[in-house]
Amino acid sequence: MAQAIQQILNDPDELSEEGMSWSRQVGLAFIIPRAALQCVPLAANEPRDGLQRTATFVRLPDASPKLVVAPAGPCGFGVFATTRISSNERLGEYTGEIRSYDIWCEEIKALKIRRRNSDASSPFIREELYAAWAGSGLAEKGVVIDAYHKGNLMRFINCSCKPNCSFKSVSAPREPHGRLQVTTLRAIEAGEQLSVDYGWYHDPATLDDIRKEAVAAYTSDLPHLQALQLSDPEPGEGDSEAVQLVAEALKEARGRPGLRRRPHSFLAGLLDSEALARFLESGKRFSEATTYRAIPDPVWLLYEVLGAERVGIACRCGADPSLNSSGRCAGIIGRPLQVNFAGRDES
Ligand SMILES: [Zn+2]
Repeated sequence: MAQAIQQILNDPDELSEEGMSWSRQVGLAFIIPRAALQCVPLAANEPRDGLQRTATFVRLPDASPKLVVAPAGPCGFGVFATTRISSNERLGEYTGEIRSYDIWCEEIKALKIRRRNSDASSPFIREELYAAWAGSGLAEKGVVIDAYHKGNLMRFINCSCKPNCSFKSVSAPREPHGRLQVTTLRAIEAGEQLSVDYGWYHDPATLDDIRKEAVAAYTSDLPHLQALQLSDPEPGEGDSEAVQLVAEALKEARGRPGLRRRPHSFLAGLLDSEALARFLESGKRFSEATTYRAIPDPVWLLYEVLGAERVGIACRCGADPSLNSSGRCAGIIGRPLQVNFAGRDES
C-alpha cells in the first residue's frame, strides 16, 4: 500500500475538490483519488424498478475510518486497511441502486447488443461486475445492489480466492431482500487490501459459459496441439499462449527444456508436465472435444481458466501480495482453489 499511497501523493492532481465532495457525501475520512471518481456517490441504497428500501430502521455503521481507496495494480483501485482491523468487524454498507434482477439483466443485454450486436452473455462487460446479490425479492425474480453507476467506497473492493471480507445481508424478518454489510472474516493488518469472493463460478449460467469457451479455446488450438504430438515438434507461427505452454511442458518432460527461460506465467502453473507426458506415452492423443468433459485431463484446467478469461472473469489475485499474500489463486473468480477441488465433476 505504501507504494499506492506514494503514487497519489506524487500526483497533486489526484486530490481534488470533486474528490473531497464525493468523500463527504459518503462519509469518508479521506479524499478519494480523482482517477477513482467513476460513479455518483451514494450514502444509502436507491430503490428502482418499483422496489423498496429494506431494513430501514437498522443503523449500519458508517464507512470505517480505517479504510482508504488507493491504486491496486491490475485491478484499478482497491480498498486498503490503514490500521489493523479485527475479525468480524463491520466496516460499512455496500451501497448502490436496488434493481430487480430480471430488469437489470435485460438492460445489460441491450447494452451488449448496442456495443457488439449480440446479447451473448460472454464476455462480461464492466457494467455487470458491480452488482451483488441481495435476495430473491418479492416477485422471486431476484434483487441486486448495483454499484456501477452509483455507490460508495465498498464498490472498490476487489475479488480474491482467499477473501478477508464478505457481504452479510441485513434484513428484517420476512423482507424479501436485504442490505449488504461488509464484514471482516479475519483480522486484517495495516496495508492489506480488503477482498471478497464474488463467486461467479457458482452461477450455473456463468459456469456453463466458461465451459463453452473452454471447448472453443481448445478446439481452436487443437491442430497445434496435435502437431506437438510429433516426436520433434517445431513451435508454430501464431501458436496461442496455451499451445506454447504445452510445448514447453512437453520439452521439460522429455528432458529437453527449452533454451529460452520460460517467463513466469500464471497459466504455466496450471499444467503438470509429468501428467502431460504420461498422457502421450500411454498412447492417448489430443482429439476433438464437443463437450467440456472431453477435453483431455492434463489440459482441462488450463482451458477452463482460459474459458474464464474469455468470459471476463479471470482471477489473478495471487499476483498481488496485498490482495492475496498466499499467492494461491484458482484463476477464475469464485472458483475453489485447486487444493480443495480436484476434478471436473464437482462445482
Ligand atoms: Zn484468485
